[in-house]
Formats: sequence, C-alpha cells, structure tokens
Amino acid sequence: MRIAIVGNGRAGSTAARVLREKYACNVDVFSDETRFHYARTALMYVSMGAVAPSTIIAPLPDAQLREIASLDELRGYDAVVLATGSRPVLPPWCTELDADVQCYTAWNDVAMLADARVNKKRCVVVGGGLIGAEVAEVLHHQSVPYTWLIRGTGVADDIVPGDESAMITRHMQQSGIEVQVASDVVAMVREGGRVTGLTLHSGETLAADHVVLAMGSTPSIALAQRAGLEIATGVVVDASFRTSLPHVYAIGDCAQPPWGIRPTWHDACAHGEHVAHVIAGGADAYVPSMPSMQATFLHLEWYSVGDTSSESDSWYWRDPHNDRSVRLYHRNSHVVGVQTLAIRIAREMCEAWIAQSLNVDAVRAQFADAVVDPEFTPTVVL
Ligand SMILES: Cc1cc2nc3c(=O)[nH]c(=O)nc-3n(C[C@H](O)[C@H](O)[C@H](O)COP(=O)(O)OP(=O)(O)OC[C@H]3O[C@@H](n4cnc5c(N)ncnc54)[C@H](O)[C@@H]3O)c2cc1C
Repeated sequence: MRIAIVGNGRAGSTAARVLREKYACNVDVFSDETRFHYARTALMYVSMGAVAPSTIIAPLPDAQLREIASLDELRGYDAVVLATGSRPVLPPWCTELDADVQCYTAWNDVAMLADARVNKKRCVVVGGGLIGAEVAEVLHHQSVPYTWLIRGTGVADDIVPGDESAMITRHMQQSGIEVQVASDVVAMVREGGRVTGLTLHSGETLAADHVVLAMGSTPSIALAQRAGLEIATGVVVDASFRTSLPHVYAIGDCAQPPWGIRPTWHDACAHGEHVAHVIAGGADAYVPSMPSMQATFLHLEWYSVGDTSSESDSWYWRDPHNDRSVRLYHRNSHVVGVQTLAIRIAREMCEAWIAQSLNVDAVRAQFADAVVDPEFTPTVVL
C-alpha cells in the first residue's frame, strides 16, 4: 500500500512509523515545517538551554519538506492521512506575523525568541494560557526584559477555576514572574514598519519591540476545506478517523471525532497508531481514553483527569499551609473528574474512581493512596 501523510507532528509521525514497521507500507510524509519530527512540547526546554535541540528531534525516513496545497497533489496514493495539527489564533489587531511578532508553537519560533534576547528587544507576551506561561518562564529564566499581559483575572483562568488560577498566578508572581492581569490589547503601534508598542483597553500604550502572541490555537483545516471535506471546528471524522471523502483520514489536533477535539500530545499519538491499524490492518472504531492533562507552571504541577469542565459541581480543598489543592468534580455527588495543584496523582487510580462512579466521600477517603511520591509530599487528608 502507498500512503501519503500530511504533517509530521506527533500524529502523522506515529502513523507513519506504525504503517512502515508493522504493515510494511510505503509511506511518504509531507511537512511544511521541518523534514524531521520533533517533540513540540519540549520547545521551551530548548529555549531555556536545558536540552540541546538534537535531543528532541527524531529523523523521519522519506519525509519531504513540502506544503501540500491540494489533495490533487496526492493522487495515486491508496490512502491519505491529514495530520495538519493546529495553528495559532491571531487577534484582529495583528493578522500577520513578521520579524517583530511571533507565536510560540513551531520550530522556527525558538530561533526568533533567541534572536529577541540577543538583540535585547523589549518583549511583550500576550495571553495567559499554557503557552503564554511557558514563554514568560523562558524570558524570566533568561533575564530578558518582558511584560506578560493577561486579559482575564489570572494565569490559565480559561482552563482552571478562579481559586486555582489565583494560586498559580500568586505562585508565579512570588517566583519573580511579572504578570499584568485585566490587560486587554486593542491595537499594535508601528513606526517605520517596526513594532513600537501595544495599546491597552485602558488607553495606556506599553513600549514593545518584540511581541509574542499566545492567544490559543484552532485546528488547521485549510487543506481539508479546499478539498471540500466536512468541517465543523476541525475536520469531521467518524470513530475510525474516516473523513467525508473515501480513503482520506484525519487525526491529531486537526480532527474532530464524535467525542470532540482533544489537542494533546497523548491523543495525537494514540490517533496516529490507531489510524494505521484502520488503514492497513482493518481495525474498527477507536475507543478514546479518559481525558487527562498535566502541565507545570514554574514548578507548580497541575493534573487533570476525567471531566473537569465547569458544567459539573465541584468539591474543593485547599491546603492552609502550602500552595496546593484538590478539586473533585461530581454529578449528583458521583465523581467525574479530579484536578490537583502541586500534588502528583496516579492517573489510573483517578480513572478507576471515575469509572466506578464513586461518590465524593469515598474518593476523599481513598485520596491519600493516589498520591505519587508520598515520601516527598506532605500528607494529604481531605
Ligand atoms: C509550546 C507547546 C507546548 C505544548 N505542551 C503540551 C503539553 O505539555 N502536553 C500536551 O498534551 N500537549 C501539549 N501541546 C500540544 C501538543 O503539542 C499537540 O497536541 C500535538 O503536538 C499535536 O500533534 P499533531 O501531530 O496533531 O499536530 P502538530 O504537531 O501541530 O503537527 C502538524 C504538522 O503539520 C504541518 N502542516 C500543516 N498543514 C500542512 C500542509 N498543508 N502541508 C504540509 N504540512 C502541513 C504543520 O506545519 C505541522 O508541522 C503543546 C503545544 C505547544 C505548541
């Protein structure tokens, strides 16, 4: 079988590897970004100088550095897999990137940020989510002068409730990270073609000569759209990653399966593996794992397992002596999600509680057993 894969991120490169190694397919991988696969999640460690770029790269055989503009270019293949990932959301006041304005999602973004440091540019980071926090941490670590603007009330307030967001924000501020909340940017100021500042809703203009936009991402659907595939927010696929066109599949961040878009490293990897079994091994529907996320906000670890959306009720515990917390999300008192700050938890145990529909009191009673590294963690009594 001859398979074309568009995109060499986690989803596309996993599919390519399984198709080659398990099914001896001929696979061509196309990427408009790099000829090699790399760990996108580790970009910040390269920026901080904590790891060498070579350690996050994996060579991809038969990969081509080429943008695929139309599926017509891929005629003759037995199947086509779209693994085009996501693209950054740009604000209305800045619809194009240039040498002074960047995002932080791609390989070249590391070099741009390094260039800003070398040229002693005054950086402004816009956006208070996970990527904004990573960029602020990199700049802080490198003693680059910066301002970090957050539209809402605190760091990550779009993914965690207000109490946790306040704790993360305070933790980062106490560690020396400067955060300016309630700062909505309305315009970018340019003189002689170069950025000189950002104007806020308040009317204040902040000096800036390098801007990093971290305002979220959205599925990269341009190629699928041009091919006439069914699109919602992402490329609509069934539970086997089949799109609305025969022999065309979509996986990873760009895909919208029946259980919804889940733009995570783990999901992209699992999609890539499964679609290979569908195409070459005749496998059927994929069964999604329970959602889970983990991130670190300057040493403060955040864990989320199950349904931690604001649509559920929740029971909250905050350690009166340390910056750490537990939130149990529940429906009719049955736990559907677990979220912690600064407490490492065993994901499998949380999944078991949720699968068994344990109630809040039962989970509280067992919670200490789920704490990983208890010898390094002050006792948790809920
Ligand atoms: C800085 C950062 C930190 C992150 N940290 C975490 C984390 O801690 N945990 C976590 O779970 N997730 C994290 N993520 C998200 C995670 O990286 C993504 O969910 C995952 O990489 C998605 O993989 P993918 O293969 O679907 O897409 P991508 O990795 O985005 O790869 C898609 C590739 O396709 C290419 N492409 C697109 N269109 C075309 C075309 N027409 N022709 C050719 N090539 C094309 C793109 O340029 C890109 O190289 C992070 C993301 C970023 C940016």
